[in-house]
Amino acid sequence: MNANYDKQDLDPELLQRKIDIILDLEEDLIFILNKAGLITKVNSNGALTLEFKEEDLQNRHIIDLIASKYKVETMKAFNDIIGGKPERAFEASFYSYRGIEILFGINAKPLYSNGKMSEIVLIGKNITHLREITDEIENLRMKLIEANRLISIERQRANQHKSLLEELNKIKSEFVSNISHELRTPLASIIGFSETIDSDPDMPDEMKAEFNSTILNEGKRLARLINDVLDISKLEGGGIDIVKFKFNVILMLNEAIEAHVKSAQAKNITLSWELPEEEILIDADKERISQTIGRLLNNAIKFTNEKGRIKVIAKNLFNEIEIIISDTGIGIPETDLPYIFQKFYRVSRPGTEIPGTGLGLVFVKQIIDLHKGFITVQSEVGKGTTFAIKLPKNHI
Ligand code: ADP
Repeated sequence: MNANYDKQDLDPELLQRKIDIILDLEEDLIFILNKAGLITKVNSNGALTLEFKEEDLQNRHIIDLIASKYKVETMKAFNDIIGGKPERAFEASFYSYRGIEILFGINAKPLYSNGKMSEIVLIGKNITHLREITDEIENLRMKLIEANRLISIERQRANQHKSLLEELNKIKSEFVSNISHELRTPLASIIGFSETIDSDPDMPDEMKAEFNSTILNEGKRLARLINDVLDISKLEGGGIDIVKFKFNVILMLNEAIEAHVKSAQAKNITLSWELPEEEILIDADKERISQTIGRLLNNAIKFTNEKGRIKVIAKNLFNEIEIIISDTGIGIPETDLPYIFQKFYRVSRPGTEIPGTGLGLVFVKQIIDLHKGFITVQSEVGKGTTFAIKLPKNHI
């Protein structure tokens, strides 16, 4: 014992009073338990926190006051101390007098008397509030993680949107430049040839007729282009009406092929066809179907080199008519095939100047769709391309 200790320090009564004052002043919960777990002492603030009178807690078993989910852990800690552990920390909720759970962080230590463990001292810090705060922090942390996740999804979406807009913008600029070029070329020849005719009154009739025919063709080309653009915007706005009536599709095909014989001949392309003898009636919009075939034939001629071949085949199937247009042209690369029915999509072929707007096949696909038909394409670069259309004979 420390030599500086006063004699009165050893006075047991005084010592007891000191301990009582300390216990009274202590804000935390203090229990002294006997080896059976019964409460032999509780400090006044501890009892107050639990809304009990001190005497009501005397001799109660500690486990009776503990909330059920903490009973096992408390028993374990109790047994550890009994078993000789010098200290044990654990958490447990106590029921207050009114049955409210109060969470304590508890430290337990054994008390020895004559070398034998006689009692256990528990000091509990009320951590209910702290736990509420940490729970709230955890809750906010989870919300923050979720918010960050949503922000990153939104950011990704915004980036995708941005690149989509950039892509659309690029497509739009390309379209504007294509269409300006497409409009300017026929206009330039119309103006050029008209001026030549106008400035030369002595021009031979033959030459004049040839120039006039060029002006007419270029004028038609212009009209076709403008119609394309109008058709597509009408189709997109849902403003196109399909006027269906029964007609002989074989006759229509003959007329469409006939209309392209000249331009095929101009490129030395052999245009042949294999059509059923019998008439085949289908319930469809004759004008639109004829335009569709016309566009496919135009493309076939446009993308087939001199001395190539184009063949149109029609097959009379049970409920459908199949129309196949194949050419021995330049073909479409496999990587471009999925996109050719998209608006303004044009296969990039550097070094070749084949005019176009990337609208023709959009129109074709939309018309076939409106008739509940199918269009498929097969192609091989340098070998040729085959478009196959299936149209229901009767209105579905
Ligand atoms: P365009 O006005 O450019 O011809 P289309 O929509 O008609 O537009 O066709 C889209 C693209 O598909 C074209 O740029 C062309 O490269 C390709 N294409 C269409 N038909 C054929 C074909 N018969 N042979 C080769 N390529 C073709």
